[in-house]
Amino acid sequence: MKVLKFGGTSVGSVNGIQSVKKIVESQGEAVIVVVSALSGITDQLYKTAKLASEGDDTYLAEYQSMLARHLEVIEAIVLPEKTSTVIELVKIQFSDLSNILRGIYLIKDTSAKIIDTIVSYGEAISSIIVANAINEATHVDSKSIIKTNNQFDKHIVDFEKTNQLINEKFIHQPQICVCAGFISTDSKTNFVTNLGRGGSDYTAAILAAALNANLLEIWTDVDGFMTADPRIISNTYVIEKLSFSEAMELCNFGAKVIYPPTIFPVFHKNIPVIIKNTFNPEAPGTYISKDKAGEASKAIKGISSINDTSLITIQGLGMVGVIGVNHRIFKVLAKNGISVFLVSQASSENTTSIGVRNADSELAVKSLRTEFAAEIALGEIDNIFSEDDLATVAIVGDNMKRTPGIAGKLFGTLGRNGINVVACAQGASETNISFVTDRKSLRKALNVIHDSFFLSEYQVLNIVVVGVGTVGSSLLEQIKKQQQKLMAQNGLKLNVVGIASSKKMLFAREGIKLENFKEELHSKGVDATPTLICNEILAMNIFNSVFVDCTANAQISDLYQTLLENNTSVVTANKLAASSEYNKYVNLKETARRRGVKFLFETNVGAGLPIINTMNNLTTSGDHILKMEAVLSGTLNFIFNTISSDIPLSKAIMMAKEAGFAEPDPRIDLSGKDVIRKLVILAREAGYKIEQKDVEKNLFIPDKYFEGSLDDFWKNVPQLDAEFETQRQLLNAEGKRWRFVAKMDNGNCSVGLKEVDSLHPFYDLQGSNNIILITTERYNEFPMMIKGYGAGAGVTAAGVFSDIMSIANIR
Ligand code: ADP
Ligand code: ASP
Ligand code: MG
Repeated sequence: MKVLKFGGTSVGSVNGIQSVKKIVESQGEAVIVVVSALSGITDQLYKTAKLASEGDDTYLAEYQSMLARHLEVIEAIVLPEKTSTVIELVKIQFSDLSNILRGIYLIKDTSAKIIDTIVSYGEAISSIIVANAINEATHVDSKSIIKTNNQFDKHIVDFEKTNQLINEKFIHQPQICVCAGFISTDSKTNFVTNLGRGGSDYTAAILAAALNANLLEIWTDVDGFMTADPRIISNTYVIEKLSFSEAMELCNFGAKVIYPPTIFPVFHKNIPVIIKNTFNPEAPGTYISKDKAGEASKAIKGISSINDTSLITIQGLGMVGVIGVNHRIFKVLAKNGISVFLVSQASSENTTSIGVRNADSELAVKSLRTEFAAEIALGEIDNIFSEDDLATVAIVGDNMKRTPGIAGKLFGTLGRNGINVVACAQGASETNISFVTDRKSLRKALNVIHDSFFLSEYQVLNIVVVGVGTVGSSLLEQIKKQQQKLMAQNGLKLNVVGIASSKKMLFAREGIKLENFKEELHSKGVDATPTLICNEILAMNIFNSVFVDCTANAQISDLYQTLLENNTSVVTANKLAASSEYNKYVNLKETARRRGVKFLFETNVGAGLPIINTMNNLTTSGDHILKMEAVLSGTLNFIFNTISSDIPLSKAIMMAKEAGFAEPDPRIDLSGKDVIRKLVILAREAGYKIEQKDVEKNLFIPDKYFEGSLDDFWKNVPQLDAEFETQRQLLNAEGKRWRFVAKMDNGNCSVGLKEVDSLHPFYDLQGSNNIILITTERYNEFPMMIKGYGAGAGVTAAGVFSDIMSIANIR
């Protein structure tokens, strides 16, 4: 014999009941069918009762809409020969309901007892309808078999009486019985009661246990128990199997799928439970049984959460070592009917924190203050206070006890994402670790845990790209091209959640489609400023977030400190931050380390060439960088390689600009400023404390050409062409070439023009390429050499992309 429970989501619609009918009629064995009220009806009954008791006559409209909805369902699905009888029966129920509502409307008062009666009509009526929609089904009145006692104003099942009544009722059980879930009656008074919100699941479990059913099936509107609440996070999936203890822990916070008390009666009788989807009966569902997870199973099976948490803290040195304090705390809370779902006490015993629902918080503090009034007066207890509007999250899995380091990983992951843990608790059974956090961090916490414990099929990086010039656009194109492959082969989802230009910004938590990002940004974007961009990112409070700066803008680089402080990694092609004052650079690096996020700027020097990474690998493995000699300006190298008797200096500068190698203002390159910035960054990464002013400059264009506007510069620079050409011919005759070289020797830095002969490694440096020679303790006689494209949007974007990949840690 089986018990099948169909929730409001299943019986709430005509096609739902049609599916229920098919499922039940195809069983081929005796079944008891338990049904909830039509979806939303219980809420509507509570609302109608409230309106009526407040003398608000709109209750009548609510009443009429409920009546109409039920009549519509009856017409559509009740067996034709029974339709008129069922309409008759249901109208009688509605007429009783109407009389009660009218009564409380007139006296403008109500009691818990009356409310319990009013809300019972939902299941009373739905069970009649379903019983008459299924062939050969008999309706059984649950109120005559499920009995409760009153404790702390709550209805507690009277198992002795209930089990006896169930057994008497079903001794000669017909093939299909349909009864109402949720509703019951008081053992002594026979008043109508219920088993609490979502209690139909419990009714079904009580019946299954009393009758030793071989299976309890919970039919709902999802394919099974999911790894987390699918309404809060998007990439959840169905858990194939759960043990009773895992299921109990997962539904403890009222994940809706199963009402928490449901598990115990079936666990006690070792009756397996299966969660199935009425709207997709072929899906295998979730199987819950006594079998514990096997070795191969994941450490964590699922996450459950509740956003209704208040933390009550009792604090005082006078509590240390005093026997009986906890006893008194729990006694007084129990006496006031307050349920506690989390307790955290440090071994020093000077604070105890207790998680309760927000609605219980005031009463909890008041009753505890009364209980400990004497201790408070003596100063033994300093304070009893509550923090409201918090959320509790539990990670659940039998295998946690076989896997060391789960708590470390959990709290490490939360910390890296800036999620503050207010209190935590782990049971000795190690099936559950719970923690309390701010309510506003709940979604982020669930996502980040889901992601980092591989509950998700893929890992997510949430990326914001600022700057859609040549580098930014090229990066977004590259991401677009790689997205599918990374998802399929590396389980990595690159989710671009923000794009901003100097004028507009566009944010979307679920990700921006990159097919037409420029048009999207133009048509849907809103006005942007650096501050607005930053505020938007902080407000989004999204996990695994990476800020990508593809601008050359100082106001954008000024945002890094705040972003890093707020646990957002920064990847930047913009040199301004790492080359600014040394203290600023150090602070950024330290903040990133402290927050457990990354600050990466490989493309600040040599575009996509792996220079900074290589240097870091050398120094972290114990080498010391003694000397560096490099050509770091693609622009200047292009210019020196282009000048000829036909192409004078001024034209070569213009050509570099047109080819997209130069900075937007070429004077930044020609004045050596760009190379100085790069050298400063390299010297710092090599371990030297260098400022830009410490770099000695030997320039080839006199200072006066840099005064005035950019237009003045273009106008004046041809004056240098003739002299330059003379010098170049002399150099040529000697078989030498010019290179603009950056040097660091034991912390002494300089930039300037150098003449190199054909034996020098810099002589053959083509086009806009860069080269660097690094002399270290280990690479001493023959320095390490890195050479290749040192400028260009494609390679720079690729370098930025590669920094992003190193955050995902998949390389
Ligand atoms: P019913 O009316 O069938 O009793 P409920 O609304 O009580 O349905 O429970 C099913 C709903 O629970 C689903 O529609 C889903 O939105 C929600 N839910 C919350 N947490 C989970 C979870 N971990 N797995 C599956 N569903 C969940
Ligand atoms: N109809 C009741 C409620 O909405 C019981 C249930 O759905 O299980 O709480
Ligand atoms: Mg339910």
